[in-house]
Amino acid sequence: MDKSHKSALSIAGFYLLFAGCWILFSDRVVESLVSNVEEVTWLQTAKGWFFVGVTALLLYLAVKRFTQQIEQAYKLDGMTGLLSHELFKLQLRDLIQARKEDEKTIVAILDINDFKEVNARFGFEMADKMVTEISKSIVKHSLSRSLICRLPPDQFMLARNYSDAIDPDAIDPDVVDVEGRMAGYVNLVAEAAAKLGIEATCSVGVAFCPIDGSSAKQVMDAAVEALRVAKLNRQAIQYHNKALTEQARARRQLVESLQKAIDEELLTLVYQPKYVLDTNELSGIEVLVRWNDVTRGFISPAEFIPLAEEYGLIHRITPFVMQRAANELEPTGLLGSKIKHVSINVSAVEFNNSQAMDALLARIKKQKSLAPFVRLELTETATLADIQQSSSMLLRLRSEGVGISIDDFGTGYTSLAMLKDLTIDELKIDRSFVSGLGDCGRSTTIISAIIGMARSFNINVVAEGVETEEQLNALKTMRCNDAQGYLLGRPVDIVALQHHLGETESAA
Ligand code: C2E
Ligand code: MG
Ligand code: MG
Repeated sequence: MDKSHKSALSIAGFYLLFAGCWILFSDRVVESLVSNVEEVTWLQTAKGWFFVGVTALLLYLAVKRFTQQIEQAYKLDGMTGLLSHELFKLQLRDLIQARKEDEKTIVAILDINDFKEVNARFGFEMADKMVTEISKSIVKHSLSRSLICRLPPDQFMLARNYSDAIDPDAIDPDVVDVEGRMAGYVNLVAEAAAKLGIEATCSVGVAFCPIDGSSAKQVMDAAVEALRVAKLNRQAIQYHNKALTEQARARRQLVESLQKAIDEELLTLVYQPKYVLDTNELSGIEVLVRWNDVTRGFISPAEFIPLAEEYGLIHRITPFVMQRAANELEPTGLLGSKIKHVSINVSAVEFNNSQAMDALLARIKKQKSLAPFVRLELTETATLADIQQSSSMLLRLRSEGVGISIDDFGTGYTSLAMLKDLTIDELKIDRSFVSGLGDCGRSTTIISAIIGMARSFNINVVAEGVETEEQLNALKTMRCNDAQGYLLGRPVDIVALQHHLGETESAA
């Protein structure tokens, strides 16, 4: 017998017992107390009212108890264990009240697109599974102290207090990169669904307190309105706030232009030389991608590469760079003669994705003229995300004859001792340390320590961003192997590179 049946039966049983005893014994009690007919009538009436009062009280207590239980059950979403809409509203009120002066409350509503179709194509069970997967990913992606609720069947609402994004990489979790986080939610919905073999996208409406409303209801309504506009325009993210909407649109347009530039092969390459400090000989070149947009002008890779990583376009940029570099370098006849290796930058998102690395390796092998000279530049943070996995990937690349360089070394706060676990050819000391040479004793100490440790592991050290003779001399004194920087050669196109190499050869 189920629980609800049991408790209903126990209440009915209790009532039956009470009412039965009342019927059986109450008249007898009355008769034993009084004998006068008038008094008996009066007592009988009072007895009736007492019975009604007691049963009304019992009824009240039972209904109250069960209503409370039902309310409690509604507070959590049965399928995902997230807050119910009602509880979310209540807690959002508290959150808004607890907001500090310099904080905003962000409310985002996320809706899975074409959920009905998912239901129809894959069945309810699978669609529920997808919602559960997505809910888990949302919880995982969300910062602590976030309110998350599910609005059945296919929506989620999130809220959190935060201070304005000053530095997206800040350690303080309360300084939130809103745009990055929202894009993260859009990606995770697609990824969680893809795990079940379903292609799903979502739309997100975002609103802020106090800009878009001062009460929980107003901000929630603003977020819903933003979601409506997102759906209407088939956009992934729509901010209710106009300035942010504008920013997001500009970002989206930049991504679209980048996509077009990739499609039409409008990106170009420049090459920056690296020199051996002892002999002044060229040790290799680094390939750097350039984007000169027709309307916006030059856009730095420091701006568009992170965007390409976020929107999955980097997987198209690297093969393009590889192919274009091969096409441009092969006819010069410099490969293997003057140019001993060609460094190509690889992003962390690629390095940490084994499929992307398989594709990259296959592409390198295909470039027969370039392949023997390829050296991949990986950032320190990319290799350290999972040191064991990185280690085996580096071994694999090395066994295929691909050289490995750790770029921007020193910015990732790694222990130098980690180098012993990584099989690498080269380490590039970040520009920030080189620029401190001369006027900052600490930079000299750090660079000396890096050179000393790298030497003991037989790793070649390159100093990046050398701009002055003073820096160059200091590096020579410290016995740094190679140097790269504006002083020795700026990044230039293939024609200028040939010219530059011709000049340096005749000067030598
Ligand atoms: P990076 O790999 O550390 O490249 C060195 C950056 O320092 C380049 O900036 C280069 O132009 C600049 N640089 C070189 N010498 C000097 C100097 O003496 N002084 C100063 N101030 N700067 C110098 P760039 O080309 O703007 O690239 C920035 C970053 O964008 C690169 O840093 C790299 O992380 C990324 N990047 C560039 N091309 C690619 C690419 O094809 N793929 C990927 N994944 N990332 C790329
Ligand atoms: Mg580099
Ligand atoms: Mg670098």
